[in-house]
Amino acid sequence: MTITTDELKQFLITDGARADLHLHSNASDGKLSPAEVVAAARERGVVLLALTDHDTCDGIKEAVQACTEHNVHMTTGIEISTIWRGREIHIVGLCFDPNHPAMTSLLEKQKKLRDDRARAIGEKLEKCGFKDAYQKTREMAGNTATITRGNYTAYLYSVGAAETMNQCFAKYLAEGRKAYVRAQWCSVEDAVNAVNLAGGIAVLAHPRSYDLNNKWLRMLITDFKNAGGEAMEVSGSLQSPADRDFLQVLSVEYELFASCGSDFHRECKYISIGGGGRLPDRVNPVWNHKKFKLEV
Ligand code: AMP
Ligand code: MN
Ligand code: MN
Ligand code: MN
Repeated sequence: MTITTDELKQFLITDGARADLHLHSNASDGKLSPAEVVAAARERGVVLLALTDHDTCDGIKEAVQACTEHNVHMTTGIEISTIWRGREIHIVGLCFDPNHPAMTSLLEKQKKLRDDRARAIGEKLEKCGFKDAYQKTREMAGNTATITRGNYTAYLYSVGAAETMNQCFAKYLAEGRKAYVRAQWCSVEDAVNAVNLAGGIAVLAHPRSYDLNNKWLRMLITDFKNAGGEAMEVSGSLQSPADRDFLQVLSVEYELFASCGSDFHRECKYISIGGGGRLPDRVNPVWNHKKFKLEV
């Protein structure tokens, strides 16, 4: 079956059709392979997805193949870690060319920063008594995966460092804890520029997760927009109706397209694929953007 983008858009506003434009695989810190993510998404009734691994496009090819087999639609995706005014902010890119030199050169730098930081975290964990922490985390993640604190959380949980994954993160990896290493990511402008140069749409990821008050969140959105950002996530997992409503208001006020995604990493009680919720009525969905295009 082939479907035009217009037909897909129509389908997405009818009941039951879900889009999930924020998903992780084992190309970064997700548990499932890209093909497994696609199969699980299809099972959940997702008709449009983007794999948005941290600072890597390595999973996209396998996901495209699986989407073709499973009859699911897909755009290219990524989640880029940035630093904005001393805070870690995530920028999702959609519908860009993963082979564009602006993107590949940015990701090469981020990859090096990630591996250096992963090794530094490993050294700190050694001092906490976790022998060969980097090597073991690398083995669990695979040779080419970008390693995040999510991978370290999975490793710490596997060796029984604490009772839950959340506790492992909170005990060792959260800001100020023993194995915390401050990251040196690119700027918001760098990330947005790379996405735009590669022909894509830059999306401010999970805007409510940065612990910013109203004034600071508006400053972030203003800076993001001035840098060329064009969309923001409005619907996501673990969100109160009030939060979603507030994000709806901001996306309308700042004239940013709206995206939705679960931020799925692994099966857990609170987050499931396709469970990011549907977009509220008043927003302009990102699939209406003129740059929006399907890979499959
Ligand atoms: P990093 O980009 O290396 O700073 O790592 C951030 C990643 O850590 C996120 O993408 C999540 O996958 C994971 N993470 C963040 N907070 C938690 C938490 N409380 N419990 C488990 N994993 C977390
Ligand atoms: Mn993650
Ligand atoms: Mn994120
Ligand atoms: Mn994410």
